[in-house]
Amino acid sequence: MYPGVVRIRGEGAVFARLRELRAIERLPTEDLLRRQRAQLASMLNYARERSPYYGARWSDRSQVLADAAHERLAELPFLTKRDLQEFREELLARPGPKRVTRKTTGGSTGEPVTVVKDRRATAYEMAASWLGYGWHGVQIGDRAARFWGSPYTLKRRLRFAAADFAMHRIRFSAFAFDEGDLEHYWRACKRFRPDYFYGYVSMLEAFAAFVKSSGYDGAALRLKSVVTTSEVLAPSQRSLIQSTFGTRVQDEYGCGEVGAIAYECEEGRLHVMSENVVVEILTPTGEPAQPGEPGEIVVTDLGNRAMPLVRYRLGDFAVPGLPCRCGRGFPVLERIWGRAYDFVEAPGGRRYHGEYFMYLIEELRAAGRPIGQFQIVQESAGSLAIAIVMPESARSEVQADILSRLGRTLPGMEITVSRVAGISRESSGKMRVIRNRWLEGGDDNDDRS
Ligand SMILES: [Zn+2]
Repeated sequence: MYPGVVRIRGEGAVFARLRELRAIERLPTEDLLRRQRAQLASMLNYARERSPYYGARWSDRSQVLADAAHERLAELPFLTKRDLQEFREELLARPGPKRVTRKTTGGSTGEPVTVVKDRRATAYEMAASWLGYGWHGVQIGDRAARFWGSPYTLKRRLRFAAADFAMHRIRFSAFAFDEGDLEHYWRACKRFRPDYFYGYVSMLEAFAAFVKSSGYDGAALRLKSVVTTSEVLAPSQRSLIQSTFGTRVQDEYGCGEVGAIAYECEEGRLHVMSENVVVEILTPTGEPAQPGEPGEIVVTDLGNRAMPLVRYRLGDFAVPGLPCRCGRGFPVLERIWGRAYDFVEAPGGRRYHGEYFMYLIEELRAAGRPIGQFQIVQESAGSLAIAIVMPESARSEVQADILSRLGRTLPGMEITVSRVAGISRESSGKMRVIRNRWLEGGDDNDDRS
């Protein structure tokens, strides 16, 4: 069923693209760079001509040549999350591809953004993911158990369920779970027999801990791999998951706006999918970071022709690495940090993933509440402090909305909603939306890796 569904969705290019990626993955880095130059030049010319946003902002309007594409890229202004929010219409290509997918992502900074992506770009992104999963034995169309968000509304839940069925996936909510839910997930896994797990690090960690403490045999599921995503994978989390399920953990680095960016190979090193994205790692002065030197991640999507994203600042940080022993020419990222979500734990032990609160705030925004940035901090076992940037006129309504929602979800918890002028950043520069000072034990350290 998988190939048919993919074709109906206009994403049939995934198969040919995967074959192409397999054919070139072991080319020398210089050859891959040459391929990337041509694609980058093509994308930059396209963006300047079709997207009013770039057309109005790029001072050098001459044709970009492949040989100078990276140099030209380095001269272009950055695109921020704020730009994506403010200039969405101007960023769209005109004329652009007909068949597109709209995707709203919370993003760990608490400001949702909507990206429009054409189906061919989505197919290319999927191919890059399957290539990466293949490094650990997972084949295209294999059965996945996803530990992931589930939508709020019934209509969307049904649509997701239909897509999951067709795509050989089963979905477990990572938003809220207790021991009873974890037990249910375990039984569902035994029935469904997934080939691999995919999901949030923190959720897979919690599930592994549950399986282990319950005395269940996680290795009996015979998973090919466990793919972790969206959060920094700490060594202790990796070893817990690996030992529980008796299989390799593969870390994925990506973001909602661009999709798949990097995958771990058999050597455990992260390779950038350079056929899909250009990843720049820049020092505070804007120079490319050298191997071993940390810098900010800036990405350019080579595929998206509906809404070109050029020099997009993700807000994450990485260290570029030296070439890998596995023989693949894709550039290496040594380590990544900045992606950290915390849980909120209700009295009674039920845990709520950070994304749960992101979705709640997004719903209120969609209902017209003027909510800016926000931060949710669990100060102690029974208290939650929510700070929101909002106009004074909206304060009482927003307070009432949140208290009525969370009062039901988190009974027995003292919840305060306050209006603030701004949310302060961590020392790393990252904004953390959900903090759990109570479970952290007051530790102020943002870097979990
Ligand atoms: Zn490698």
